[in-house]
Amino acid sequence: MGQISARNITKAWGAFTALKGVDLDVREGEFLSILGPSGCGKSTLLRIIAGLDEPSGGEIHIAGRNVTQDPVWKRRIGFVFQSFALWPHLTVFRNVSMGLELRNTPKAELHGRVVEALRMVQLDHLADRLPSQLSGGQQQRVALARAIVLKPDVLLLDEPLSALDKNLRQDMQVELKSLQQTLGLTTVFVTHDQEEALSLSDRVVVMNKGAIEQLGAPDAIYNGPVSEYVARFVGEAFFFRGRIERGEGGACLRLVDGGAVPIEGTDAVQGEEGLAFVRPEWITLEKLGPQQQAEAPRGVVERLMFFGQSSDYLVALGERQMRVKRRPDMPVLQPGDAVAIHCTARVLRDGQDAP
Ligand code: ATP
Repeated sequence: MGQISARNITKAWGAFTALKGVDLDVREGEFLSILGPSGCGKSTLLRIIAGLDEPSGGEIHIAGRNVTQDPVWKRRIGFVFQSFALWPHLTVFRNVSMGLELRNTPKAELHGRVVEALRMVQLDHLADRLPSQLSGGQQQRVALARAIVLKPDVLLLDEPLSALDKNLRQDMQVELKSLQQTLGLTTVFVTHDQEEALSLSDRVVVMNKGAIEQLGAPDAIYNGPVSEYVARFVGEAFFFRGRIERGEGGACLRLVDGGAVPIEGTDAVQGEEGLAFVRPEWITLEKLGPQQQAEAPRGVVERLMFFGQSSDYLVALGERQMRVKRRPDMPVLQPGDAVAIHCTARVLRDGQDAP
């Protein structure tokens, strides 16, 4: 059993089922992200773990105790929401100390713990300020200090960085991760930002309509999605559908237009239908002459998308568009250039939901 265990958790509001029997074990000291689109049930699951919502069925265990019937304050959790919800009329110090005051912590101990928590989030020099005198990132750090000062068994974070602008958000991600590692805190982090989830987490849960679609290390989720849903939601993906052919050089997908794409990751037999995906950085483009034929799928360069540190070619394949990460070893391409698309696509286990 994990440090946090959700056992067959269901949640229904009237006829609507928000969670459909979720089982999840969060390991001790682990940073686990729950990722999914709006409305898939991420916050509901977190709120049930916290004790802010009651499940319709199932059990929650934290640090070996069945806490399903326990109120929030008995669960020994730290919770940080998207909105910082600081008390505007209290100083930074009192915002952090309030939880300890309510627990009748002796004065000397309280002072030491608040100072230590503020030092951890690098705010000890601003202890006397009011929240309105702080930047967004500083306010978010107060919210974090307020959670960790209680020495919780687990830290639950619901989109805590989504109100911050991009640069600040990236700084806070680094700080949050190092704080979590220093304290060895078991952390559950809800986000709909896939990059944030992949970069911070030991493991990622991808949810779909109230159920867990995949649980795994970031690398496994990105490179080995179990479904089209996960491949699409986590990162950029292009899909090929065709019939599997096996030859001496390996397996490929024979596309409807006659082209072929080498594939990996399947034991499927010759002639079966398959659905495979590629990531933009797995693809190499070869410029084709006007009459030049190619076995590989053909496309036409539409434009280059420049992002600063990297750029993507946008390539049209019939009606669809594919993104290809531009690499120094690729030829320089212009809009209108015909290209052959070279890549090895990965077959999805679940080939049902074709594009
Ligand atoms: P977001 O990223 O938008 O916060 P989420 O994945 O966290 O989304 P939840 O807040 O868990 O989604 O909500 C899951 C579903 O349950 C949604 O369809 C939502 O409309 C519904 N829901 C949430 N709270 C209630 C409620 N109190 N009554 C009825 N339905 C609710």
